[in-house]
Amino acid sequence: MKRLVVVSNRVADPGCSQAFGGLAVCILDALRKRGGMWFGWNGDIVGDESDLSATSVKFDDLTLATVPLTERDYREYYLGFANAALWPVHHYRLDLARFTPEASDGYRRVNDRFAQTLAPMLKPSDLLWVHDYHLIPLGASLRARGVANRIGFFLHIPFPPPEVLVAMPEHEWLMKAFIEYDLVGFQTKTDQANFCRFMCDFMQGETISPDVLRVEGKTLSAAVFPVGIDVDAFAAMAASPGAAKRIQRLHRAGEPRINVIGVDRLDYTKGLPDRLRSFKRLLEMYPKNCKAVTLMQIAPPTREDVRAYADIRHELEALSGEINGQFGDFDWTPVRYIHRRVDRDTLAALYRGSQVGLVTPLRDGMNLVAKEYIVAQDPENPGVLILSRFAGAAEDLQEALIVNPYDADEVAHAMQKAIMMPRAERIERHAALLARVRKHDAYNWMGGFLRALSACRIPLAA
Ligand code: UDP
Repeated sequence: MKRLVVVSNRVADPGCSQAFGGLAVCILDALRKRGGMWFGWNGDIVGDESDLSATSVKFDDLTLATVPLTERDYREYYLGFANAALWPVHHYRLDLARFTPEASDGYRRVNDRFAQTLAPMLKPSDLLWVHDYHLIPLGASLRARGVANRIGFFLHIPFPPPEVLVAMPEHEWLMKAFIEYDLVGFQTKTDQANFCRFMCDFMQGETISPDVLRVEGKTLSAAVFPVGIDVDAFAAMAASPGAAKRIQRLHRAGEPRINVIGVDRLDYTKGLPDRLRSFKRLLEMYPKNCKAVTLMQIAPPTREDVRAYADIRHELEALSGEINGQFGDFDWTPVRYIHRRVDRDTLAALYRGSQVGLVTPLRDGMNLVAKEYIVAQDPENPGVLILSRFAGAAEDLQEALIVNPYDADEVAHAMQKAIMMPRAERIERHAALLARVRKHDAYNWMGGFLRALSACRIPLAA
């Protein structure tokens, strides 16, 4: 079997894989099984450029090769371009995007340096898998150094419609970079269609077969591989005796008999203020829910150095204060807002102890919280998932209550429907959803991508 080389912005530490999502665990697992290397940033930020060489650590057949970033790299490549330009553009938020020449130069520089460091470590038979928006031009930088291996790229975030993308000053070279990959993977059919439309309408490419394009003389596969979770591991966490104790505490601690849960990084794409406004409408339109229903919103901080993230935090704090002030009572707090990271064991228990899972992003690549919520439920008495139509997960999870997160009344009605839903309907919907989450779990995602990459055309020798 060919050695697998995974490249991503951050590299997970096998010593504390619990701290990472199911995806990192699943990649680590595959790398351990087939032997391989994981290359990327180690999270360190150094003051100067004197030593940016890679450090390699071996765990049996797995090698972790990591590099630090300089303060300037962090500012320009990570915060500036990846998170203040690409992230908002790919989430259809041109209003929040910031474009500066320094940031795009930093993005090119770091991708080029990653390629320069990685290229000498590669063997001709290695299978390369590059992850996410931080590293779109890495494949092109490797090709420029004579790397002829098969290289696949997976985009974890949405791919916007071409009409949105063309507003980004750097879009032309960025899109050219995509065609250096043999396979580009997307979360949803919508993302794939947007990408193919760009390639065909803006770069004179042509579709050869449903998942294969020919652009500027190169053949490129573009296919859909929905990201999933490690279903059995998460289900076991949610059904453990430890989880049962936590759930008991949750219900003993306060009045509410019904818990609605939201779990999201505090990101403007997650629609948190809209969600709180929907909850407020629920209390206004269905006042019987007062003192009976609580919204627990876990929203750990993220990317606080980008201004748009500080703005969303203030808005959320103001809104939860307003709702608690207007509706709360001495024995009931309507919104419990937790602004710190919660470990996955606790999350699994909180999902299971919550009758409604509220997942209402304004735009999301996939949304693993939706899948975790389903897997964590007791199949005999499951809760109800309310899911934004703009989450990638909604393309598959059709038995959820699908809502438009911009429409506060619609989301409030869905919450009421979820609260009142008869047990038989909950069981039926949950069984269908669980089967879907199982079908597209983390292992199928990875296996599907790697099989497709192995089946791509044999690259010409460099
Ligand atoms: N998560 C966590 N603790 C928290 C909040 C989130 O472990 O306090 C995890 C959550 O269980 C999920 C991941 O972070 O696995 C979030 O993934 P998702 O696809 O929903 O959103 P993203 O953050 O990647 O945009």
